[in-house]
Amino acid sequence: MLMTAGEYIESLRRLNLNLYLLGEKVENWVDHPIIRPSINAVAMTYKLAHEPENETLATTNSPLTGQKVNRFAALFQSTDDLVNKVKLQRQMGQRTACCFQRCVGMDGINAAYSTTYEMDQKHGTEYHQRFREWLKYIQEKDLCVCGAMTDVKGDRGLAPSEQVDPDLFVHITERRKDGIVIRGAKAHQTGVANSHEMLIMPTLRMREADKDYAVTCAIPTDAEGITMIYGRQSCDTRKLEEGDIDVGNYSFGGQEVLVILDDVFVPWERVFMCGEIDFSIMLVERFAAYHRQSYGGCKAGIGDVLIGAAASMADYNGVRRAAHIRDKLGEMIHLAETIHACGLACSYQGWRTEAGNYQPDTLLANVCKLNVTRFPYELCRLAEDIAGGLLVTTPSEKDFRHPVLGKYIEKYLKGVADVPTEARFRMLSLIHAMSFGQIAPSYRTESMHGAGSPQAQKIMIERETDMPRKQELARIIAGIDEREDILG
Ligand code: SF4
Ligand code: FE
Repeated sequence: MLMTAGEYIESLRRLNLNLYLLGEKVENWVDHPIIRPSINAVAMTYKLAHEPENETLATTNSPLTGQKVNRFAALFQSTDDLVNKVKLQRQMGQRTACCFQRCVGMDGINAAYSTTYEMDQKHGTEYHQRFREWLKYIQEKDLCVCGAMTDVKGDRGLAPSEQVDPDLFVHITERRKDGIVIRGAKAHQTGVANSHEMLIMPTLRMREADKDYAVTCAIPTDAEGITMIYGRQSCDTRKLEEGDIDVGNYSFGGQEVLVILDDVFVPWERVFMCGEIDFSIMLVERFAAYHRQSYGGCKAGIGDVLIGAAASMADYNGVRRAAHIRDKLGEMIHLAETIHACGLACSYQGWRTEAGNYQPDTLLANVCKLNVTRFPYELCRLAEDIAGGLLVTTPSEKDFRHPVLGKYIEKYLKGVADVPTEARFRMLSLIHAMSFGQIAPSYRTESMHGAGSPQAQKIMIERETDMPRKQELARIIAGIDEREDILG
């Protein structure tokens, strides 16, 4: 069953989340003005699945259910599926201009699917079959899954089991006949309050002493023992004000939450790794490759909106034809398309796992994400350059609507004669929101640290590169090693 956007939003009301925002428990979080835009962004993933023109991108047939399912809950069964995923994410980015959150679950699902298979092959466990059953349930109900990987980590120089406080990485505190109990916290959980389920995964390589930390499992987001603390975004309280201009992107937004897991019980049928330290890093790296591929979609799509906003501001300011403006817009297009090209390239170069689903090329996925740690900054810089200083000095919508002040603003903040001042005002607000972090959570910082900080990609890029071969190539051409005989 493919839920509609409306059905999805209603389904969230049936959850009993223990969610806090600005120091207060939120009872009706679905209609909360700060939270609702992030729900709308996820709802777009449900809307697209019902659009005939997006059927190929947004849905696929599931081998588990034999039915059409939403791509955000699906396995990648070919390189075409990987390509369609990235194209879907670009369109989602274009239509929401923010993080639409549901990709983390999709990427976690695919990483856990192949890892559980290989774990069972080696250890004779039954994780894969359990995982398939759980995934079937997710697909049949069309549920939204939050991929929960990032632990709070404490002292970054210490392994999980070496921390002064043992709870700084999620771990098993009890193994019972009917299941396990887990404790810890997951940070920056994208869209968790908009999800029905959390897929808990380990966050790094584990050693022998870290056995209790090698845990993968699924829990409902309203399970007993969970506390969610909603993350701040700059200018978030603008959403509490009247009007729709100052927020920049009124309908959509991202969501990041600190999730506390205080002795949460997980029945065995929902446990997909329990102490297999040798598979922790495989799961982490496969997930990371997927999510670094993902950025080749969403960040290009969000970039498209920013480029459109910058070009519009140039129009409104009457400078669109200036050579330097055209040059800057051209540069912005180049940056967004390079991001997308990397996302597509790693998808086309994907490979089949033993379980049968597909992974993007690891090296190219990491190159994609490393570009994303830089290019959105440059895109924002250029958009700010084109927009002008008014970007950070605009009066409020309240001033604009004021019977006396409004007339001044209308008159003095006008650009070209045929564009209403309000349009200029709205476009500036959009660029402000995208650039300064109100809606994404920031096109910039999220691009830097989401899916892993730049050093993580550099390490993977180095590891995935055959440097001895490159050096051999150089030695041959330089004549240090025997030159290739072109006639031979
Ligand atoms: Fe999806 Fe991008 Fe948000 Fe990750 S950052 S969840 S890929 S929209
Ligand atoms: Fe992200």
